[in-house]
Amino acid sequence: MKYFGAHVSAAGGVYNAPLNAQAIGATAFAFFTKNQRQWFAPSLSPKDIEAFRSECERLGFAPNQILPHDSYLINLGHPDQEGLDKSRGSFVEEMYRCQQLGLDRLNFHPGSHLGRISLDECLDRVAESINIALDKTQGVTAVIENTAGQGTNVGFDFAHIAHIIDRVEDKTRVGYCIDTCHAFAAGYDLSSTEACERTFAQIDSIISLDYLRGMHLNEAMRPLGSRIDRHERLGHGQIGWECFEYIARNPRFDNIPLVLETIDESLWPEEIAKLKALSERN
Ligand SMILES: [Zn+2]
Ligand SMILES: [Zn+2]
Repeated sequence: MKYFGAHVSAAGGVYNAPLNAQAIGATAFAFFTKNQRQWFAPSLSPKDIEAFRSECERLGFAPNQILPHDSYLINLGHPDQEGLDKSRGSFVEEMYRCQQLGLDRLNFHPGSHLGRISLDECLDRVAESINIALDKTQGVTAVIENTAGQGTNVGFDFAHIAHIIDRVEDKTRVGYCIDTCHAFAAGYDLSSTEACERTFAQIDSIISLDYLRGMHLNEAMRPLGSRIDRHERLGHGQIGWECFEYIARNPRFDNIPLVLETIDESLWPEEIAKLKALSERN
C-alpha cells in the first residue's frame, strides 16, 4: 500500500493531527508531538494519549503511516557538552512521547558540527546520542533525515547516514528518511525517471533501502547541488512530476509514510489526490 500525506498541525492537542490529516484526504501524516520551538514540554496527559490513540484507530492510521518530527532545536552532534546534553535530554523525551502515543518511529535531522569539530566526530556523536536514546526507550525507531547540506549541517551525503547507522548498536531501531528536496539540493539528481533509477540505486548501495522508514516528498526551488533548502509546490520546481510519479509507482516505497512539506498547504488535498492517482495507474 502507498500512504501519502502531509505535515499537519497538532494545535490544540496531539489528537487533532489525525483528524487534520483525514480532512485533506491523507493516509499518512507527520506532526510535532510538542511545540517544535521549545526544548522541553509538559508531559502528555493520559487523556491526550488516549484521545490520540482512539482517533488514529477510528480514522485508520497505523504506526507505519505516521512520521512524527522532533524539535528543530535539537543537535545530536553538538560540539559542546552542554548543548549535547540538552539535545540528548530533549531527544529522549521526544522518543518517549512517541512511545506513549503508540508510535514506532521519530524523524530528526542528524545535527551540525558548527565548525568546531570534524564532520566524522559530529557523526560519531549523533550515533552515540541515538544509542543513549534507544537504551532509554522502547519500540521507537530513530529515523535520520538526509539534509540539504546548508551551513554546517551533516547528513547531506548518504555516506554520513551509513556512518551513523554503522555505529548504532540496535540496528532494528534505526532507519532513515529521504527528503527529495534535500537530496536534490545536496546533488542527487531526481529530475527524470532515469535519474531516479540511478540515484535510488546509488543510495541503496550506500545504505540499504531496507532501512527506509519514511519519505518527505518535496519539490526543490533551487537547482541541483545548490545546498539550499527551499521547498516548492510539487511540479513547480527543479525536480518535476516524473520523480514523484516514479516514487508513487515504485513498490520499494510501499508501506511507509510519504509526507509532503510543500509550501502551499491549500494545495495538499490536490497534491495528495494526484499522487494517489499516479500510484493506482497501471
Ligand atoms: Zn524534510
Ligand atoms: Zn527542508
